[in-house]
Amino acid sequence: MCGIVGIADSPQAAQLAHLGLFALQHRGQESAGIVTSYRCELRPHVGMGLVCEVFDRQALQVLTGESAIGHVRYSTTGASHLKNAQPLLFKTVHGPIAIAHNGNLTNAARLRRSLEHRGAIFQSDTDTEIIAHLLAREPGPLVSAVIASLRQVEGSGCLLILTPEQLIAARDPYGFRPLVLGDLDGTAILASETSALNLLKARLVREIAPGEVLVLERGRARSLKPFPPAKLSRCVFEQVYLARPDSNIFGRNVQAVRREMGRELARQTKGIKADVVVPVPDSGVSAALGFSDESGIPFEMALVRSHYVGRTFIKPSQELRELAAELKLAPVPETLRGKRVVLVDDSIVRGTTSLKITNSLRWAGAREIHMAVSSPPIVSPCHYGIDTPRCEELIANRRSIEEIRRFLKVDSLHYLELGRMLRAAGGGDPSGFCTACFTGAYPTPIPDYEQRMAKPDGRKHRKVDTR
Ligand code: SF4
Repeated sequence: MCGIVGIADSPQAAQLAHLGLFALQHRGQESAGIVTSYRCELRPHVGMGLVCEVFDRQALQVLTGESAIGHVRYSTTGASHLKNAQPLLFKTVHGPIAIAHNGNLTNAARLRRSLEHRGAIFQSDTDTEIIAHLLAREPGPLVSAVIASLRQVEGSGCLLILTPEQLIAARDPYGFRPLVLGDLDGTAILASETSALNLLKARLVREIAPGEVLVLERGRARSLKPFPPAKLSRCVFEQVYLARPDSNIFGRNVQAVRREMGRELARQTKGIKADVVVPVPDSGVSAALGFSDESGIPFEMALVRSHYVGRTFIKPSQELRELAAELKLAPVPETLRGKRVVLVDDSIVRGTTSLKITNSLRWAGAREIHMAVSSPPIVSPCHYGIDTPRCEELIANRRSIEEIRRFLKVDSLHYLELGRMLRAAGGGDPSGFCTACFTGAYPTPIPDYEQRMAKPDGRKHRKVDTR
């Protein structure tokens, strides 16, 4: 998961991109960067850390130019290191180009090996650089080279490519990751989420369609559909956890979707006797509100989040993740003492963070804990740009729901059924979503990973029907 933003034709391109990145910061906190196009050159500024740490007034003053692309990163391929910070900048036969990418190529290892055999020298560990090497080898105009190179990659990806003359946006034919087009008084704005458009007071024009390549040049937009259509596979986890509640993802407001997931969860678990509904903040709040709406059990913010610690899910190592979880959430004993609690979270990945939370609720005096999760058990890793870990680290891949309940030391454990989650995500229409992390049914081949996914005895990881 990363966030990308693009600005075409504004004298304040870098400033707008900078603000846009603030609204996408939740999508990546390891590094940030902006590249602007100024006359015949591209001007970069990238660094490790949050947007507010990477950019100061001086850095923005250097970023002159009328178009810009920006990126916030968390690593799914390549380590958390400055050399992997994006946008990546290259000098090619097509001139200078900068690339910002949100997604994950599933045939990256094969392509990289093949390119290296043909003499390519890589500067970073990212799969994004593979796209640059591919298009640098393609003849003809840049747009044709971009299309030819994207025909060779598999997996997920929204791309922004900047040259001194053009800003090109592309979304993979499956539509895994979101990308929207906005307008601010004639300035075109591209962003991973509408939260960036809202912050800039820009008007949402439309989503970039799956498989679309949009070329912005001298104030004009050209839309191309060069790829054969693929099975629509929008990432439902964007709706469950990743995106900001004020964003509209795949045409639906995230806050409203999560609230409906919470209502579905309450309908599914009718009969739980409890005194309070408590969310795991922040991403469990909307679902907990929905649960409370439907069940009539009062909503209480009995876990207080410190906003000075990063997202636990997004930290690169388990050690840091566990430390951050302890620092991040504090129970309110006065609200919890002697109460029967419905604890609502959006998902359980490894289970270690959830266990710390349930332990802290017990410490604070909760009498009963009924854990309600607004998505099904995560049984398979994501290969499309989300850092859900390997099978053996996913608690639901190796334990039954009853075993997880005992591990978490809760009185009952409930996961939202797959069909209910999809209905909520699609506003009644459950089709067009990727659900691979919940079902093991991947919408594309994953050639780089098939070996890694196999168990030692040669069997594949188990598929689970959660309905
Ligand atoms: S596997 Fe899960 S997280 Fe990855 S794209 Fe599919 S739904 Fe999203």
